[in-house]
Amino acid sequence: MSTSTKPFIPNGTAYVDGDYVPLSEARLPLMDWGFLHGDVTYDVIHVWKNRFFRLDAHFDRFFRNVDRLHLDADVDRDGLATILAECVHRSDLEDAFVEVICTRGMPSQPSRDPRDAVNQLYAFAMPFGWVANEEQRERGLRLRIAQSVTRISPSAVDPTVKNFHWLDMIMGLYEAYDHDDENVVLCDEDGNVTEGPGFNVFALIDGRMKTPDSGVLEGITRKSTIELCEMIQLPIDVTTVPAEQVRAADEVFITSTAGGIAPVTVIDGSPVADGKVGDVTQRLNELYWDKHDDPAWSTAVADLLPGSELASA
Ligand code: PLP
Repeated sequence: MSTSTKPFIPNGTAYVDGDYVPLSEARLPLMDWGFLHGDVTYDVIHVWKNRFFRLDAHFDRFFRNVDRLHLDADVDRDGLATILAECVHRSDLEDAFVEVICTRGMPSQPSRDPRDAVNQLYAFAMPFGWVANEEQRERGLRLRIAQSVTRISPSAVDPTVKNFHWLDMIMGLYEAYDHDDENVVLCDEDGNVTEGPGFNVFALIDGRMKTPDSGVLEGITRKSTIELCEMIQLPIDVTTVPAEQVRAADEVFITSTAGGIAPVTVIDGSPVADGKVGDVTQRLNELYWDKHDDPAWSTAVADLLPGSELASA
């Protein structure tokens, strides 16, 4: 845990109020309802070796979610692609974590009516970050299935709309740390596994891969993993996954744009199967990273910078 009181702001570039600024100088208005009320949707994409991974799938999700929240991002897909590519290019990053945020913004006159608000678009690129560090990816994570808190009900906050409602997961993390675990996954009210802070969950049970069908963000890494399972003809069930089944699984892993497929080898203090990183987990992770230069799943940053020297090179 850090003892410094000075915030660490990574190298990067932000897009705020129509301008590109160094990430360390980016500021957002305190009165933006995105901050005051969590009235916002966002998406996170990564760039690996100068290529965006599955940008189309991220854009499908982002623009659908903007619509669902009655927001207006005031940008089309090409315009947004240019903004994100500019953020990466100006940050001089080969591997990047790229976020786009659409907030309710603020009304232009005194009003509490969300329809009066002028929505805002923010974006930034910063160095690629991992949901599990190198050691954890090597030996597998120690995961806690939270008991003190459940995931916000999908009938209250739609988890398929990527959102800032993370207090349940943050409280779950504190429970995990109290038990010397490294990360947490939350269950729904019926004891079925949902998701964790920034990731989906998969479990290999009796030769079939399972991942929860509801109460979760439909992660792009989850989508990729499902497609990879189909490619290698591994049966995949998108279904209800009780916590008991995950504890007794042969292999467990988490999926996230921040790091792909990360193994879980300990759950609630007990080893998953023999406590080693599973073969299927390893194979899927290799396939996942192999896909990063496949043009069907990735786009060169340079190709999204119209008119730039890079684009014409
Ligand atoms: N679930 C939640 C709550 C998330 O916030 C995220 C990503 O941040 C995920 C799942 C994984 O989604 P993706 O694979 O699109 O990164």
